[in-house]
Amino acid sequence: MSEEKSLNFIEEIIEEDLKNGKYESITTRFPPEPNGYLHIGHAKSICLNFGLAKKYGGKTNLRFDDTNPVTEETEYVESIKGDVRWLGFEWANEFYASDYFEQLYQFAVKLIGKGLAYVDDSTSDEIAAQKGTPTTPGTRNRYAERSVEENLQLFTDMRAGKYADGEKVLRAKIDMASPNMLLRDPILYRIKHAHHHRTGDKWCIYPMYDFAHGQSDSIEKITHSICTLEFIPHRDLYDWCIEKLEIFPSHQYEFARLNMTYTVMSKRKLLQLVNEKHVNGWDDPRMSTISGMRRRGYTAEAIREFCDRIGVARRENLIDIGLLEFFVREHLNKIALRRMVVFDPLKLVITNYPDTVEMLHSENNPEDKNAGSREIPFSKELYIEREDFMENPPKKYFRLAPGQMVRLKSAYIIKCEEVIKDAAGTITEVRCTYIPESRSGSDTSGINVKGTLHWVSVAHAVTAEVRLYDRLFKVEDVAGAEGDFKDHINEDSLTVIGHAFAEPALLKDKADDRYQFIRKGYFILDKDSSTEKLVFNRTVTLKDTWAKEVKKG
Ligand code: ATP
Ligand code: MG
Repeated sequence: MSEEKSLNFIEEIIEEDLKNGKYESITTRFPPEPNGYLHIGHAKSICLNFGLAKKYGGKTNLRFDDTNPVTEETEYVESIKGDVRWLGFEWANEFYASDYFEQLYQFAVKLIGKGLAYVDDSTSDEIAAQKGTPTTPGTRNRYAERSVEENLQLFTDMRAGKYADGEKVLRAKIDMASPNMLLRDPILYRIKHAHHHRTGDKWCIYPMYDFAHGQSDSIEKITHSICTLEFIPHRDLYDWCIEKLEIFPSHQYEFARLNMTYTVMSKRKLLQLVNEKHVNGWDDPRMSTISGMRRRGYTAEAIREFCDRIGVARRENLIDIGLLEFFVREHLNKIALRRMVVFDPLKLVITNYPDTVEMLHSENNPEDKNAGSREIPFSKELYIEREDFMENPPKKYFRLAPGQMVRLKSAYIIKCEEVIKDAAGTITEVRCTYIPESRSGSDTSGINVKGTLHWVSVAHAVTAEVRLYDRLFKVEDVAGAEGDFKDHINEDSLTVIGHAFAEPALLKDKADDRYQFIRKGYFILDKDSSTEKLVFNRTVTLKDTWAKEVKKG
């Protein structure tokens, strides 16, 4: 039986529109404001907008919503483009809302000409006071009575730079008694003598979001303009502008924004984390940014799969970050190269092993026969993980202990014969014997052991720094938690293992290879690596250790 996924509500609308012939094909857009790096919430929006166009044979524009001159930077534009491409999408057109400034200005002139917009000299406090409340109507001031000619002149003068910031605004003339506060003569243009990242000093008046977004959609003939729920009250104004300007009828549809546990997803908050150095930059692997997740080793496939599976909701909810990690783990299990790395070494000497080096072979990935195999040097002196040895083990301890046998992964069965300690009583070495017939792949020893340990040969080990990450926040619902969001930062979210020992195959791998360090989790090489030192980030643990911790309380 084929598993037919049911349509989400936006797909239903699109199929209906296409069936009715309302549109021949669909056009969507992804409209980021270039005032920060994209986060996983944006990934949801990207997957949705590009995904719909792909599914229905339409196209998607990348539009930089750069109508606010003060906060936007070119660095952000470049990072956004890189992130969208990395996620696997290509836009039909790269547009900038600022390219429409002249057109938007003409739209405003048209509204003035129709008697539907006026220049208001009131202060912002006065405008707010005249707005009324949701239960009492607002009042119009005398500026609303200005003639079309006077408004046209004043608006021209505003553009020409005759007035200071805040001296005048252009307002739509709609309805001061509307139950929708946004229809009570909303501001369309404000004066801002500010330098814009693309238009420079050409403009000193800038359109408000509500007088730029819908019009930009319309200029680009966007059929389905998808945004998040907080824009529902804006829809009436969106429709009003399009109707009065008699331009292409784009339509706005709203879905619930993605919220996730143990993280924040507002660019303003992410910027604060960066500026106040709670993290090391926008691409810190603990960040909810796409660049952070990429650096951490998440794959685009896993993020797309996650976005697809959580679907499109019409009500706000909080998605467990463990679900994203589940998809990451699932994908990495299929593609990660298996390697052995010892984080906290304990020396192990095999007393009956000759003074030679043997090259053992092991599959790169048992899940993928095409991944091939690698050579692992084996010798008399090895490192194992200190926590894999216990001098006085409890019952059912299947790792190494005096008199006990374990298998060394892809190698031999060994037996612990002697424990060496220093003057302080710290164990410095364990001495073992090995069973020559027990080599993995050609084991004729007939011995069964329960424990298998990872190891590296001392003489061949490559040193590495390993960075282990935990949740950046201690509470599930960071936005909903009491106090400032920074009060909930987990101070122990980064653990650095300065001197781990890795098998030498790691030196030969490609930069973007993904690894499973056996028994340790999934890892990726970090950009901080140098020829002297490899640096790895743990992408995710093998199992969901967090869920267990939470249950234990
Ligand atoms: P932030 O509050 O993080 O700055 P924003 O909505 O201001 O987010 P924009 O750059 O304006 O960021 O958003 C670009 C697009 O991404 C918009 O269509 C917006 O609705 C969508 N988007 C932003 N955050 C989320 C989210 N958490 N879930 C889904 N879509 C989102
Ligand atoms: Mg925004």
